[in-house]
Amino acid sequence: DKEDIKILLLENVNQTGQEILRGQGYQVEFLKSSLPEDQLIEKIKDVHVIGIRSKTKLTAKILQEAKNLLVIGCFCIGTNQVDLEYAAKHGIAVFNSPFANSRSVAELVIAEIITLARQLGDRSNEMHRGTWNKVSAKCWEIRGKTLGIVGYGHIGSQLSVLAEAMGMSVIYYDVLTLMAIGSARQVPTLDALLQQADFVTLHVPETPETKNMIGLAQFEQMKKGSYLINASRGTVVDIPALINAMRGGKVAGAALDVFPNEPAGNGDYFNASLNQWGDELRGLGNIIMTPHIGGSTEEAQRAIGVEVADALVRYINQGITLGSVNLPEVTMRSLTLDDSDHARVIYIHRNVPGVLRKVNEILAEHNVDKQISDSKGDIAYLMADVSNIKTEDIRNIRDNLDSLSSRVLTRILY
Ligand code: NAD
Repeated sequence: DKEDIKILLLENVNQTGQEILRGQGYQVEFLKSSLPEDQLIEKIKDVHVIGIRSKTKLTAKILQEAKNLLVIGCFCIGTNQVDLEYAAKHGIAVFNSPFANSRSVAELVIAEIITLARQLGDRSNEMHRGTWNKVSAKCWEIRGKTLGIVGYGHIGSQLSVLAEAMGMSVIYYDVLTLMAIGSARQVPTLDALLQQADFVTLHVPETPETKNMIGLAQFEQMKKGSYLINASRGTVVDIPALINAMRGGKVAGAALDVFPNEPAGNGDYFNASLNQWGDELRGLGNIIMTPHIGGSTEEAQRAIGVEVADALVRYINQGITLGSVNLPEVTMRSLTLDDSDHARVIYIHRNVPGVLRKVNEILAEHNVDKQISDSKGDIAYLMADVSNIKTEDIRNIRDNLDSLSSRVLTRILY
């Protein structure tokens, strides 16, 4: 029953998410901060669901105490703080919210394009120091200029629409052939993009292929006086090569929202982490540096709250794993729980030969209306809607599935 589901929310997760979970009738305990390890271990023993942000580390040591835990909601983008493999092996689903802040990042980039074109950062800094420096040389409108988007995913494609609305012409490069939005145009190579763009903006993931994707050779290809924006990941741009390109005048301005070795908390950064280049970056003109705030808006936080809470509700009530980062994604139309002879059987199991045959033997006495199964690595997720079922059948099905050697977790929703 929903009232029996116990949820622990840590780290002040967004109000909207909390309301969705309370609205379901679950028991929700809400804490503003994270917990020290011993207290976390004590609390996690009891709960079915835990909601965290980036500070709570859910290691194997902690998860092994979480005997009732069904699902973890990371109310943030990253999931490095959770031992995903341990969770999968124990049938604990993990959800996050990778795309709720796409619009916020796209808007930041629009702001940066104009800020760089008009040298607003420098003028503002000068005024802060008391200097009136009215210039128009090398300050530009963005109308009619070409924006080159590297990585045309959630953020890149949003940005494409906004930039066209401001009169820019948009080209993009992606490893995939993707449908252009509006009048944007895909170009076949990164070099083709770099040669044509007045503004180059990066929206690729952090992968081995994107490490130092923009380095000396790529700056060579760029137009003289063009601009570079990086709000993707710090590893994508080779910082010494950027410094070199800005000093040589190839790049007329840059905006960096992401950096190598970003610190875990606020405070000193350049001295500690980016020692070798910090002073050089700070000495350059027309460079905007921000502390990874591309997705940091009230709207994005709210959207994260809604997206993760919805995923948790779908998983708790329906067993649907759509969007899970560590289990196979399995979905089926909603189960109608008012039909008392219906039940949804969920069997999370190790992906070994012969399991489906054994499961089907167990379910064979009943009507299986629909059944789906998928695997991810060692773990497989089977969902079957069965009808013509009585309460005592449910116990039998559960006991029989639980007795299989492949079992990780059995859930029956009815
Ligand atoms: P996405 O997965 O929707 O899109 C990424 C695109 O890059 C995809 O279309 C993919 O095909 C393409 N791609 C992958 N490898 C490529 C390669 N080697 N060359 C060219 N294209 C390649 O991701 P997204 O949500 O748009 O996010 C993009 C980036 O922005 C990610 O690195 C993400 O971590 C980062 N991000 C930063 C902030 C911030 O606060 N600054 C916020 C959200 C996301």
